[in-house]
Amino acid sequence: MTTSLDNTLRSAIRTIPDYPKPGIMFRDITTLLGDARAFRRAVDELVHPYAGMQIGKIAGIEARGFILGGAIAHQLSSGFVPIRKKGKLPYDTVRVAYSLEYGIDEMEMHRDAVEQGEKVILVDDLIATGGTAEGAVKLLRQMGAEVIAACFVIDLPDLGGRKKLEEAGVTVRTLIEYEGD
Ligand code: AMP
Repeated sequence: MTTSLDNTLRSAIRTIPDYPKPGIMFRDITTLLGDARAFRRAVDELVHPYAGMQIGKIAGIEARGFILGGAIAHQLSSGFVPIRKKGKLPYDTVRVAYSLEYGIDEMEMHRDAVEQGEKVILVDDLIATGGTAEGAVKLLRQMGAEVIAACFVIDLPDLGGRKKLEEAGVTVRTLIEYEGD
């Protein structure tokens, strides 16, 4: 990674200690989204390896994955698929349970959102334990998508999410790491 990319992103991301609960260092990308240069740089870097690859859909995880995913879909001339918390999507859905730090939750996507064999890239702002992204990959694969990669601006390597996804056969692309979380 070039130092300038690391600097541009790191200085645009705000850290809120003890949010949403004590001990969590919340990496707030709203400041990056509000910085035109940093936002463009992040999107450009995430799409770069996939330019010209005929990616059918970008799947974004609610909610920050929608913002990044929409921009990435536009750049790659791909469609966009929302992966949402249960009960939010209006048509027939497929649902998967995924693990949170304490307990489990469920996420859904529309049953007809991807085609058999379609090339899909999964997008979210940050990967921590990887539980959320792993659930999204399961949904996409269940519907026959070929998950080309999972892309995140931020990796928290100490929480092992990247490793978990890679062990599930997913190529992971991240732009910046925060150690010790
Ligand atoms: P995980 O399933 O543990 O990989 O958690 C990833 C999801 O939780 C992503 O949608 C992130 O936006 C959010 N998340 C987890 N930890 C943090 C953190 N320290 N700062 C900001 N967002 C986080």
